[in-house]
Amino acid sequence: MKYESVIGLEVHVQVRTESKMFCSCGNIYGAPPNTLVCPVCMGLPGVMPVPNKTAIQKTIAAGLLIECEISKFSKFDRKSYFYPDMPKNYQISQYDLPFCRGGKIHVGGRGFSGAPLPNKIIGVTRIHLEEDVAKSTHMGRYSGIDFNRAGAPLMEIVSEPDMRFPDEAYAYIEALKEIMQYARISDCDMEKGQMRCDVNVSVRPEGQKELGVKIEIKNLNSLRSIHRAIEHEIERQKNVLDEGGRLEQETRGWNDDAGETFLLRKKESAHDYRYFPEPDLLPFIADDLIIDEIRRSLPELPAKKRERFVANYGISEYDAQVLTSDKNLADYFDGAASKSSNPKSVANWIISEVLKEINLRGMAIKDCPVTGEHLVELVDAVHSGSITGNSGKEVLSEIFLSGKKPSEIIREKGLIQISNESEISPFVDEVIASFPSQAGEYKAGKAQALQFLIGQVMKKSKGKANPKIAAKLLAGKISFKS
Ligand code: ADP
Ligand code: ZN
Ligand code: MG
Repeated sequence: MKYESVIGLEVHVQVRTESKMFCSCGNIYGAPPNTLVCPVCMGLPGVMPVPNKTAIQKTIAAGLLIECEISKFSKFDRKSYFYPDMPKNYQISQYDLPFCRGGKIHVGGRGFSGAPLPNKIIGVTRIHLEEDVAKSTHMGRYSGIDFNRAGAPLMEIVSEPDMRFPDEAYAYIEALKEIMQYARISDCDMEKGQMRCDVNVSVRPEGQKELGVKIEIKNLNSLRSIHRAIEHEIERQKNVLDEGGRLEQETRGWNDDAGETFLLRKKESAHDYRYFPEPDLLPFIADDLIIDEIRRSLPELPAKKRERFVANYGISEYDAQVLTSDKNLADYFDGAASKSSNPKSVANWIISEVLKEINLRGMAIKDCPVTGEHLVELVDAVHSGSITGNSGKEVLSEIFLSGKKPSEIIREKGLIQISNESEISPFVDEVIASFPSQAGEYKAGKAQALQFLIGQVMKKSKGKANPKIAAKLLAGKISFKS
């Protein structure tokens, strides 16, 4: 039988704030275990939570960025659950009145394997805000628990069951990550647990309207394992059905080494969380003033930026993609391109040279010693022909070393391009004399030979000859040669 697979995702995203959700402990990754704790986040009796304004503002910002409706009235609820990672034995979360509802995420671009994906809109059911739980580590017979993370602000972003392929789920997470990082809502570093994903998968016979039995896979902590787990789970479910078996709603885990999912618990053991309104916190009323203020603070999203870069700077979609992959990089390009008369060349220089140099040095773009002004000056010098492209590269490397201005480096290194024919002519004569067979080939009609000869002129002139003039002189002299 032919099946269609259906995927829905519940993504947890830690909100980037200075302090935790309901207390003043630092929200910092990597501190020594159990050093960022207080009576509130340890759940000691008699304490009162105080909500973190920034966390709420950022949650609403996230909602606005993905076109959600922001609730005018929302509240926190207690979700009862008993487990070592939750010292109060309940988690403050949101149940029926979350901050945001009904959003959209545009996916497209490429899938995990690099294959192109058609554009599609994935629905977002809701975003609610809750407190994170502690982090447990299991070592043989012992378990350790670190409460530094307990009480950190955590958004849960629930998607509609709108995805049909593992690649779409991958693209959805990537798109979400891009938005959160751009808006500085979260760093979404999966390795640090700042973005965690539960995956829901079902299959149904092709053409059937009703959804199949949902199976949830928990604790997936990398894009690769998410993609693999979904792929594997779809196959497993199809096989069960093909062999006449029945699927039951259950929660499964993922074994990355074996490359397969395994049963954690059946639906029967599902929790009864006994939600009720959190009595220690007031409901939250978001009036238009608050929402508008947050709306005004939103950054331009990468998709919009790409459109603008293509339209205003005349660069390709692909280059725009590269340049908006990181907000700092996009700002860097935008700053230089807006001041340059050759924005397209600015893009080329950044992509092929600046990125190469910073990668080589393991440097972040925000630490790049080549400023936007440097770049504008450099690109102008190459464009106007005052230096060659090769000299331009030399200038760039030199800025990395000395931080000097391009004009200064050009002067000091004597890199001004020679465009004067009478100065290039002697090099051309020498090259024709030294490489008679290549000159002959060119004369006989082999156009490629000219490139070789131009290269030799560049070499002799230490890269300073204007290659266009060298070509013209070579062509002229060789055709007049008997
Ligand atoms: P639960 O009450 O078990 O948490 P929800 O209806 O809240 O289930 O859905 C949780 C997630 O599972 C959502 O992301 C949703 O899109 C997804 N989901 C729901 N039903 C299915 C299904 N049949 N197949 C795949 N995903 C589903
Ligand atoms: Zn605390
Ligand atoms: Mg649910």
